[in-house]
Amino acid sequence: MSSRPGTNLTRAEAQRRAALFSDISYSVALDLTGGDATFGCEAVVRFHCSEPGTSSFIDFLAASLDRVELNGKALDQEGFDGGRIDLPALALENELRVVGRCSYEHTGSGLHRFADPVDGAVYLHTQFEPFDAHRVYPCFDQPDLKGTFDLAVEAPAGWVAVSNTAALARPGDGRAGRWVFAPTAVMSPYITALVAGPYNQVEDRHQEIDLRLYCRQSLARYLDADEVFEITKQGLSFYEKAFGYPYAFGKYDQLFVPEFSAGAMENAGCVTFHESFIFRSKVTEAARERRAEVILHEMAHMWFGDLVTMRWWDDLWLNESFATFMSVLSQVEATRFTNAWTTFANSFKSSARRQDQLPSTHPIAADIPDVESVHLNFDAITYEKGASVLRQLVAWVGQDSFLSALSGYFRSHEYGNADLSEFLEALEKGSGRDLDSWSKEWLETAGLNTLRPVLDLDVNGGQYRAVTVSQEAPEQWPTLRSHRLAVALFDLSADGLVRRRRAELDVVGASTDVKELAGDPAADLVLVNDGDLAYAKIRLDDRSLQTVTDNLHQLDDPLARALVWGAAFDMVRDGEMPARRYLTLLASNIHGETDIGVVQSLIGEAAAAIDTYGDPANVAAAYGTWAARCRSGVDGATPGGDFQLAWARAFIGAARSPADFTIVRGLLDGDVPYEGLEVDTDLRWFIVTALAASGNADAALIDAEVERDPTDMGRRHAATARSARPTAAAKGEAWSLVLEDTTQPLATLRAVMGGFQRADQAELVRPFAARYFEMLESVWSDRDIDTALALARGLYPRVVIADDVVAMTSDALARESLPGPVHRILLEGKDQMERALRARKVDAAG
Ligand SMILES: [Zn+2]
Repeated sequence: MSSRPGTNLTRAEAQRRAALFSDISYSVALDLTGGDATFGCEAVVRFHCSEPGTSSFIDFLAASLDRVELNGKALDQEGFDGGRIDLPALALENELRVVGRCSYEHTGSGLHRFADPVDGAVYLHTQFEPFDAHRVYPCFDQPDLKGTFDLAVEAPAGWVAVSNTAALARPGDGRAGRWVFAPTAVMSPYITALVAGPYNQVEDRHQEIDLRLYCRQSLARYLDADEVFEITKQGLSFYEKAFGYPYAFGKYDQLFVPEFSAGAMENAGCVTFHESFIFRSKVTEAARERRAEVILHEMAHMWFGDLVTMRWWDDLWLNESFATFMSVLSQVEATRFTNAWTTFANSFKSSARRQDQLPSTHPIAADIPDVESVHLNFDAITYEKGASVLRQLVAWVGQDSFLSALSGYFRSHEYGNADLSEFLEALEKGSGRDLDSWSKEWLETAGLNTLRPVLDLDVNGGQYRAVTVSQEAPEQWPTLRSHRLAVALFDLSADGLVRRRRAELDVVGASTDVKELAGDPAADLVLVNDGDLAYAKIRLDDRSLQTVTDNLHQLDDPLARALVWGAAFDMVRDGEMPARRYLTLLASNIHGETDIGVVQSLIGEAAAAIDTYGDPANVAAAYGTWAARCRSGVDGATPGGDFQLAWARAFIGAARSPADFTIVRGLLDGDVPYEGLEVDTDLRWFIVTALAASGNADAALIDAEVERDPTDMGRRHAATARSARPTAAAKGEAWSLVLEDTTQPLATLRAVMGGFQRADQAELVRPFAARYFEMLESVWSDRDIDTALALARGLYPRVVIADDVVAMTSDALARESLPGPVHRILLEGKDQMERALRARKVDAAG
């Protein structure tokens, strides 16, 4: 497959340029006043070249080039391919001048342009990782060519412009004019940034650091600045102390920007966030915890990522797993979210385990030959598994020596780049441990081990003769690893399910004897990995499974419960336990769950156990039981509390009978039988979508709701609701919109796809399966990479869980014309489908 011009860069090309260039500075002037399709760019790039006379290139994805001058001489741009400017016969010191026009984007990459449908106001933001800075200005767009960046922006009246540094000059009194920013410290192009538009601004200060929050005017009333600032200050204090290195980028701005394509982005001193982190409606404490985690994740990158940067995308994992690990640690140590390790066990680690069992899994330390390949590596191996493995490493070397090693690492590599070996070297120096075999086991091999307790009882069954932990590995990834973990024994008593004994040990190889537990009375529950330091799948023995089915609600340690919930769901996914048995465990114990994040995950898993892993013949009955359980959850919850909201949403999602829909419809019409439940904007949309998907809402109801909420969010919710309607016509409209209307922003396409596939609409989606496999190559060649990947993923007929779809997927996988990233998406889709088919059989037999 050939790439689109200017959208790919190989590692070899990057290494060559890194050897050639140094002392880079960018002086960039952007004109944002000339129309809504393109903007003007004038740039001067100065750089040193170590091999005068040689030729190279600079990345610049421009709509048009007006003038290119290298060292005072105009360069002919006849051969400009729209993505790279050739640089012939370079001098020792070079000055490149470029004048051109670039396109505004609507995919969330480059300079994204958004017009607010409510007031027509235009908001811009940049997003450059991994390889999109050159959609805005000419640059050597790779992480290890750092430069200084000074930016000037010509902006319309009423706008503010925000970049990595403070503004030195700005137009007075909201007039149109020029914003000039202070030159930056040296940094990688992918963390430079510009946000511009009539943004609302809130200010605060933390010691010497100016803090600001920005969001669009129409969201300003929902922004809870106090809480965001509180987490920000707690994080800055924590990191400065933990890293023994002061914050390096002067001011710290955080901006909530429309149609953002990811969760957040760590631009130095100018962090961008998805607007869903501004809460328009009531959310639970789990959403606030999640937002705090994201704030702290991006902040950790200011040191690890921005100050010291990976040399190439091979080490993206180090960047991301580090930030993920640190964000959870800082939550626990510096904020009110002291249970964040439970969320880590419940949510982060379960995503990692899922991804690690796909055929596309890869070693944490990845081989990234070009930037196109990195797009799919922003995955749960890179973030969540990497963070799990780091947690295990920190437990092994000790947190203090880990942090002091980091401090040395930041000092030795400040404003530069480093790779994995330099990171490990710093840790070895700090801890005195040899990390070579750790790195081989954990970073350089893929796959997930399963740990099982094997209990050898005496003749009466009252005492352990031996307790062993057996370790298994999948056939394709046969590595057995070393795990530092604890095995705990719990007994049922008048005080509940109580931990009696805990033995900490190294589990190594296929079978490890837990010597400390030999001779102990047999326990009601044996929990491998108590405390959750290890990264592995854990299993429950039969007696333990029976104990937790009846009594998990009596275990008062939320982390231990999260481990049990995770183990049980893994057993369902692996066909070791019928889905209906899991649903029984859940229904009998969820009332004892005190962690709202865990409850919300379990509600999602209940739906997956019914729709995906359960016997299709049992779906109607299972939903009947589950919906009733959800209603009693709402009835029993504290009015106005988080659990009431979580259970109300669960009930709306589980409703299948006419009687249930009468209640759901009543909620929308103001007939709310639950004291304290506020049916606010987001909950209304959730209801409208559920009614639409079940055929209980016509187009007029959806239209009426958009009239109440005419924002772009409202319009996207409406798009989801429309495509969720259970008719062939609605599915056909959704399909055409996504594939044929190229004027829609990617955010809208995602919303449409979100409604297109519903678990209970397999028969309506089925006719599109063949069309899906036919269109993959053309979508790849006709659409930009972000859109092509989103369509390949979002339209894969995942709800049509059937042998013929597996066969169609296999046929498509055999095509040579299939692009590599799409190949990976199909491979994953097929694997998930085969897993579901196996689990369904177990449930049908069970
Ligand atoms: Zn990150």
